Order: sequence, then C-alpha cells, then structure tokens
Amino acid sequence: MIEVRGLVKRFEGRAVSRNAVDGIDLDVPEGKLVTLLGPSGCGKTTTLRLIAGLERPDAGRISIGGKLVCAPGEGVYVGVHHRPIGVVFQSYAVWPHMTAIENVMFPLRSGQKRLPRAEARRRAMEALDMVGLADLADRPAPALSGGQQQRISLARALTREPEVLLLDEPLSNLDAGLRDRVRDEIRGVQQRLGITTVFVTHDQDEALAVSDEVIVMDRGRIVERGAAQEIYAWPREEFTARFMGISNSLPGTVLSRDANTVEIDLVQGRLSCLPTGKLSEGSSVNVFLRPESLVLSRKDPSGRGWKGTVEFSIYHGDCWDYHVRVGDTLLRSRMYREKIGLAHGDPVYVVPEEATAIAIPV
Ligand code: ADP
Ligand code: MG
Repeated sequence: MIEVRGLVKRFEGRAVSRNAVDGIDLDVPEGKLVTLLGPSGCGKTTTLRLIAGLERPDAGRISIGGKLVCAPGEGVYVGVHHRPIGVVFQSYAVWPHMTAIENVMFPLRSGQKRLPRAEARRRAMEALDMVGLADLADRPAPALSGGQQQRISLARALTREPEVLLLDEPLSNLDAGLRDRVRDEIRGVQQRLGITTVFVTHDQDEALAVSDEVIVMDRGRIVERGAAQEIYAWPREEFTARFMGISNSLPGTVLSRDANTVEIDLVQGRLSCLPTGKLSEGSSVNVFLRPESLVLSRKDPSGRGWKGTVEFSIYHGDCWDYHVRVGDTLLRSRMYREKIGLAHGDPVYVVPEEATAIAIPV
C-alpha cells in the first residue's frame, strides 16, 4: 500500500552534516500497522512528513496505493491535500471554541471539499462513533480529556476516508494512565477498519503493543525490521538489542555452532546462545541477556551459576531488579514472584537461562 525507495532528506545549515533521512526503503502492506521506532532525532517524523507530502525529499520515490506521489528525479510531486492520507500528530490540534463534532466537521466544510452541513455532520458522526466518542459529540472541546481530544484528532483524520493513516507519536502528550487506553483504542480502530497505518514512536513497549511490523531506525537509516515478537525476542543487531532494553551485554568468542545454537566462551564460563547472522568459530560476539533471563540463587546445584555479589536492589511492584557484580561486570537480574531477600554484599549465583541468550557479531 505504501512503497518507499531510496528516500533521502537533507536539511541545510545543520551542525550535523548527516542526512536527516539517509536512504530509506520501506513497504507497508495493505491493512497492516507498521511502526517506525527509534531514538529522538533518528528521522522518524521527517520520514512520516515525506510520506504525507508535508516535506519534499532530495531523492527517492514514494507510492501510495499503487500511485506514484513523489519522485523528484521524474518531476512528480502530489501535494498533501491530494494524497489519500490522514495524519495525526503528537500535539492534538483541537479548536477550543468548538464542540467535538464541530472539530471533526470543520475540515469537511472548508477547503476544496465543502460538503453540505448535513452530509458533513453525518460523516463526522460516523468517525466519532469509530473512535468511541459519539456520546460526547456536542461537548465543548475544552471539556474533553487529553485522551478524548487525541481521539478527536484521529476522528478528524478518519473523515477523509484515507487509504493510509499516519500517526506521529500520538500518545506522547497523554498521561501514563491514559496512554494505554488510547493506544488500545487506536489499535482497535485500525484493526476494525483494516486501515493501512504508519505509527511513529520512540517507546519500545508502545511499538511492541500496536505493531504488525516494527522498523528500527537510527541516524536516518533502517537498522532492522521484523514482527514485534522477533524484534523483542531475537534482535539481530546490537543497536536493536540495546534499544529494546536488553541491558546485560557480555563479550565472548564463538567456540562452535550448529543450526540451532552457538557455543560461546565468556569470561564467566561457557554458554549456549541463539545464533544470529554470520558467526564462525573464533569470531568475537557480544552476548545479550535480558534481566529476566538471569536467575539468582543462593545455591548452585546445576553448577552453571556465576558467582557474584549483590550491589543493590530496586523494587518495581511486580518484580525486583538486583544489580550483581560478577568479576568486573555489573549484571542486572529481574526476579518476579518470590522475594529472594538479598541485600548489599550478599554472595549469590547468577544462572543464565540459555535458550534466551542472544549472540550478536561485534
Ligand atoms: P525524530 O522524529 O526521529 O525525533 P526528526 O525526523 O524530527 O527525528 O529529525 C531528524 C533530524 O533532522 C534531526 O537531527 C533534526 O534535528 C533534523 N531536522 C528535522 N526537521 C528539521 C528542520 N525543519 N530543519 C532542520 N533540521 C531538521
Ligand atoms: Mg519526531
């Protein structure tokens, strides 16, 4: 539904000479939600604005629904109002002097469309119904919560009956409690309508929750892409592993490998890992382990534990994070269920869960 090839965007006069978008290829299949995930400044918004037609690229091609909308090399450029898109930004632009439904109707009554009042009202009501706000149609906008106002923006984008929805950090300005609800609401509407969507966020959890596919970006480029479960459980790139919060990283060397596992020699001992990419015997790797994959124990019946000392612990409500020193390395272990009751200075064994360790070439 969306096809982007070789997209490049440069901003003049920046201190950094890098391209803001530096050769992006992406495909968003019909009816799917694809997330652009990456740290602040990596080029997510610029990519979205280029797809929307709010920004002109220096190079590349963009097609939406099989129609070429942008190709600077061929002199093709379709403006934002002529692209079959709906856009929602982080700052929900809701007009305070209007009611909910007037906010949604306004674009339908102005510009080139100029629908008759009754028709505009009917379409706006439909859109409000889609985002679950039909009951509040006549409420003044300032009397709506942040989450409801963001859903008004979504309804407004939907009245255009777009083929494609573009959402730029639509949850960032909402309170933590509301964020999950609006997130679920957006995913619900997207799946019900089967509308092709590009969702931009810097938040890993948010990306995992809503996406059919996650595209990880860094410095204007795509690092890797995959189903949410793949990106979470089996990142192939070090950047992804770190960005997805796999906080334990241990340098090692490949001892041997077969199709399913790779044996790694670490300072702490031997470990079987999931292989990624080209790993040949003797090559250097970093082994990534999630805190929940490091189990703490006072004894070591399996003989696989690494002997360490507790530095400190952090309580999170549903779990504890223990920071444990093993040799020169500080490891983080997350324990759910029982409190093991360890304090600073206590000796402990760290037992890695093997099937969950990931070896990534250095
Ligand atoms: P993200 O949305 O991932 O945080 P952006 O796409 O907003 O990143 O920005 C990518 C890079 O381009 C950043 O370095 C940013 O400073 C730069 N940039 C974005 N918009 C402009 C602009 N209008 N003028 C100059 N530089 C810009
Ligand atoms: Mg942005």
